[in-house]
Amino acid sequence: MKNIDTFDFTNKKVLIRVDFNVPLNDKFEITDDTRIRAAIPTIKKVLSSGGAVILISHLGRPKDGPEQKFSLQHLVPELSKQIGVDVQFADDCIGEQAIEKAGSLKSGEVLLLENLRFYKEETKGDEAFAQKLSKLADVYMNDAFGTAHRAHASTAIIAKFFPENKMFGYVMNNELININKVIKEGKKPITAILGGAKVSGKIEIINNLIDKVDNIIIGGGMMFTFIKALGGDIGNSLVEDDLLDTAKAAMEKAEENNVCFHIPTDAVIADKFDNDANIKFCNSHEIPDGWMGLDIGPETGQAFKDLIGASETILWNGPMGVFEMPNFAQGTIEVAHAIADATKNGAFSLIGGGDSVAAINKFNLQDEVSYVSTGGGAMLEFIEGKVLPGVAAIEE
Ligand code: AMP
Repeated sequence: MKNIDTFDFTNKKVLIRVDFNVPLNDKFEITDDTRIRAAIPTIKKVLSSGGAVILISHLGRPKDGPEQKFSLQHLVPELSKQIGVDVQFADDCIGEQAIEKAGSLKSGEVLLLENLRFYKEETKGDEAFAQKLSKLADVYMNDAFGTAHRAHASTAIIAKFFPENKMFGYVMNNELININKVIKEGKKPITAILGGAKVSGKIEIINNLIDKVDNIIIGGGMMFTFIKALGGDIGNSLVEDDLLDTAKAAMEKAEENNVCFHIPTDAVIADKFDNDANIKFCNSHEIPDGWMGLDIGPETGQAFKDLIGASETILWNGPMGVFEMPNFAQGTIEVAHAIADATKNGAFSLIGGGDSVAAINKFNLQDEVSYVSTGGGAMLEFIEGKVLPGVAAIEE
């Protein structure tokens, strides 16, 4: 594998797999350009080093061939503005037009190809489709961390057609470096904060982190499966009864590894799943029937704040409560602020996964933590210890 910073791009055509899966409104205007902004340094690096750029991406989930609402053409004006170059467009990612436009592309120019997922071959990881794409360029660069956990034609299969000239872009590099700062090189004490609705989505992460971290903090709806496994009364709180043994086994494994498992001691409880429900605080192991826990309580919030404040490395995935409702957002707000404060005092903090990223943005703390992963599912699979096909294809 090659390095974007040292590679000589002079007169090379570089096929960059980006993640331009951006939200569009009814008028096909971009409502959040985070993913476009993220890709700009990689594109500019290739252009300023004498190369030409061919961008490939997916957008949305087209079902059966081309659909106007999923056309990447909608991105051309914004992309041209952000790169500072008039971006050319081919309305098919393979075929005559793509070959012609890629063929006549000169150094310093940029060509965007139409949505890869207009071909079902893309998600199927079809080798012949990947080969057609590969013929358009001299170099392959993967900068789409968000799809790195998929073995799609453009994210993994294509790499074999560039045995010498393949590399990561800056988005990929940054994601891998920052996640490894926690799971491989984390300074101790390391604290993982895991919340969200369900144990089922998080159990593999918990199990993989047990021999890597010092503290595991549990919050969110999934805490009640752990509390029930410990013999507590959880009233009508969210629970996964089929995972009680799994939860118990994770706690036992943590104890064997000298990892402290922190389960909330108190909770905010409500008589219905509604911001306007009747609300009380109570011991999280003694929730009466007819009531459900929708946030961690104040005693737990304080204990978690102290733990976070004493940590050198922090990983956060998943809210502590139903943070979308103001009456059950306090625990998540306190944890987010504690992470920002710890970061100010020198800790490294990584935030990842849809809802914790939404929470950190909602509280406007995104610039006060060390790194916010854009990866979602890819980041979670990486933390679970899985090999990501998009990463392996470049590294092997
Ligand atoms: P996840 O996608 O698994 O990270 O879960 C995020 C969702 O979990 C958010 O929409 C929260 O509202 C929800 N959540 C957090 N705490 C609770 C709780 N105590 N009961 C029910 N849902 C919860």
